[in-house]
Amino acid sequence: MTPPSPHSAPSDRPAAGVLADRLGRPLTDLRISVTDRCNFRCTYCMPKEVFDKDHPYLPHAAMLSFEEITRLARLFARQGVRKIRLTGGEPLLRRGLERLVASLAALRTREGRPLDLGLTTNGSLLAQKAAALRDAGLGRVTVSLDALDDAVFRRMNDVDFPVAKVLAGIEAAQAAGFARIKVNMVVKRGTNAQEILPMARHFRGTGVVLRFIEYMDVGATNGWRMDEVLPSSEVLSLLSQAHPLVPLEASAPGETAQRWAYADGAGEVGVISSVTHAFCGACSRARLSTDGRLFLCLFAHDGHDFRALLRDEPEAAGDARIQARLAQIWQARADRYSELRALGAAPPRNAARRIEMSYIGG
Ligand code: SAM
Ligand code: SF4
Ligand code: SF4
Repeated sequence: MTPPSPHSAPSDRPAAGVLADRLGRPLTDLRISVTDRCNFRCTYCMPKEVFDKDHPYLPHAAMLSFEEITRLARLFARQGVRKIRLTGGEPLLRRGLERLVASLAALRTREGRPLDLGLTTNGSLLAQKAAALRDAGLGRVTVSLDALDDAVFRRMNDVDFPVAKVLAGIEAAQAAGFARIKVNMVVKRGTNAQEILPMARHFRGTGVVLRFIEYMDVGATNGWRMDEVLPSSEVLSLLSQAHPLVPLEASAPGETAQRWAYADGAGEVGVISSVTHAFCGACSRARLSTDGRLFLCLFAHDGHDFRALLRDEPEAAGDARIQARLAQIWQARADRYSELRALGAAPPRNAARRIEMSYIGG
């Protein structure tokens, strides 16, 4: 039996003076990709056949420096951003990432508070880096993990990476003092659906929040098919038969996950229904690629070049112009791809030009 639906997110219509797009959505959340490289080849994200040794990754000079990222992040915060998530590619491959974390941790929101600073990682290097990241001021960690069964996990990451090392990374993050660590599991029918209950059993009662994500039609290389999407409703039905669930309020406006508590008090679990239950109406996220292009939607074809602006415009005088450009771009935003797809009216997309998840991050 599927449990009742949780309460929807509270309204977050922007107050006067807050930057809003054409659908009234504020800009509060920025995801920054710090590298387009990864040490995994997850079949749904960076299939080996495409991301091989001949793949044209960005040269170092094309990537935003830590100073450039920090400058932009400061300007975004001035425009209302409160939450920044570092992603990739695999962000822990970027050398010295803790230096960037320390710079971002020193920034403040318009209200004068520290940013909500998070990182999404495949966990492969977390055991070595968790303590340094925490010391640098990182607030939250989300680890992507698609299976507990070692053989299934090795098949999905496609580089024969053992699950034990990712689990050790999660433990290191707990030991380093990160609270409310999240684990994201992309569920593909026919690939890892049998791992749903073992994953739930493993993380129940540990304080780690497991979230099940529907496999999305992002990018042009993963050969996405609707019949491989396992709807969240089925995940919830399976889960609630084994462990009764009660709905929880959304913890923040625009939150992508529907949250549930285990009725026996063993913690929290969530589902992210990107395909079957579009949440564009509350989407307050922008994404910055490793080379400084700003994307207003995961499914956008084109990004707005902020690297050129950063490099052409010297600090003080340029900052005002960059902020004005950002305001102009956000105010023109009307993207809502997933909603349109649900209505059967998604705009025709040139598959060859779709942006890859590994380039702009999840
Ligand atoms: N490498 C890091 C990681 O895996 O956590 C960060 C970047 S990765 C692109 C960010 C998230 O996107 C991961 O949780 C991954 O599982 C998710 N992702 C990638 N391709 C996806 C797809 N086609 N559908 C749903 N989620 C996807
Ligand atoms: Fe790498 Fe993350 Fe994509 Fe997997 S999901 S290939 S770990 S970027
Ligand atoms: Fe936001 Fe685009 Fe995803 Fe809709 S489809 S929730 S607008 S990123």
